[in-house]
Amino acid sequence: MEPMSFPEHGLTEEEIRSELESHKLDERRAHWSQAFRGPKDVQEVGKRAFAKYMAENGLFSMRLPNIGDVETAVIDMCVSLFNPPEGASGTFTSGGSESIYSAIHAVREWANEKKPNITEPELVVPYSVHPAFSKACHYYGLKITRTNLGEDLRGSPRAMEDAISSNTVAMVASAPCWPYGLFDPIEKIGDIATAHDLWLHVDACVGGYLSPFVERLGGDIPLWDFRVPAVMSISADLHKFGYCPKPSSTVLWRSEDLKKYHFVHPGDWPGGTYSMTGIAGSRSCGPIFAAYSVLRYLGVDGYTNLARELMEKKRDLIGRVNQIDGLEAWDNDLMPIVIGTTDLDLQAVKAGMSSLGWVLIAAADPPLINIPFDVSTDRDLIDLFVSELADVAGQVREGTATRREALQY
Ligand SMILES: *Cc1c(COP(=O)(O)O)cnc(C)c1O
Repeated sequence: MEPMSFPEHGLTEEEIRSELESHKLDERRAHWSQAFRGPKDVQEVGKRAFAKYMAENGLFSMRLPNIGDVETAVIDMCVSLFNPPEGASGTFTSGGSESIYSAIHAVREWANEKKPNITEPELVVPYSVHPAFSKACHYYGLKITRTNLGEDLRGSPRAMEDAISSNTVAMVASAPCWPYGLFDPIEKIGDIATAHDLWLHVDACVGGYLSPFVERLGGDIPLWDFRVPAVMSISADLHKFGYCPKPSSTVLWRSEDLKKYHFVHPGDWPGGTYSMTGIAGSRSCGPIFAAYSVLRYLGVDGYTNLARELMEKKRDLIGRVNQIDGLEAWDNDLMPIVIGTTDLDLQAVKAGMSSLGWVLIAAADPPLINIPFDVSTDRDLIDLFVSELADVAGQVREGTATRREALQY
């Protein structure tokens, strides 16, 4: 593509509209992994609220009650799902990554105060936690130690305890982790955190707004939230199974005392105290009002119904993938759907699917394809996916599809 010149004269609204149209991608296969948009009616509710409040500046949420009350209401509704002790609260953020940066920043500030002898703080985590923890540690100057998983691919409490050094300040566990959709044994990890006086953060970015409703349906969800006494903070993405428009996520704090480590009030400039809710300065109110509207539109029964439908579609897709010779969809704890292989070259399967236009997310260790999977994915697209996956798997088995592609996110 030619570098675009800055237009000497502005374009017409009509020209802009047609340019935007030209960037739309109609290939449905390319949208397969772009999940979490939710059903059309839910999207509409979010979109309308987003558009209405898009131009309002959330920087004023600590000053203007018409914004602040809505943000607080979102947080109150969200934290109530995680069996909080009295006084638990949270912060609205732009995504899982920001929620994680916020938590790790608070960890560092907490450790600075509580463990002043530690000058090189460390975080101990299972190998499978999201890379946002490595980024957070890089940004905030902590060392991260990823520990070996157990045979069951869950975090190993033993390996984590062995990795604790005199500099360790916190541990992380996932509920569930992205690559495998498996929960770490959070109660056991919590006992270790308590015994060593460490902060435990639970990353429920993918599972946070799904597992409470699956639990309500009688699903087998291990204890992971504030019911585990060691859990100090939780990251949970509204823009995943909360079906809210991006960018929206939450970081939840066990108590106001812990939340205070999140805030920074520099005050060393002409404008005085610079009180923000978190990392962002100016930000759109669109995501806050959209989240508010979607949460209230769906309610507990709406989310529970969507969770039921999602779990049924998951079971169906797993059953059908498992009929394909050489592929193995896992009966994991929650989401995403994970497809491994018994004896096929999954790099060739992924390349074959890519050449048909499917955009897939994968992991290499072990070889896996991850499917975020949206409850609103329609039957026809699921049928197309399964049938083309079977074709590609057959070609790989016969040796007629040999191009390979890295298995990566
Ligand atoms: C998606 C996800 C994240 C990061 O969230 P973003 O919104 O993409 O920044 C972190 N942890 C887990 C387990 C996730 O699934």
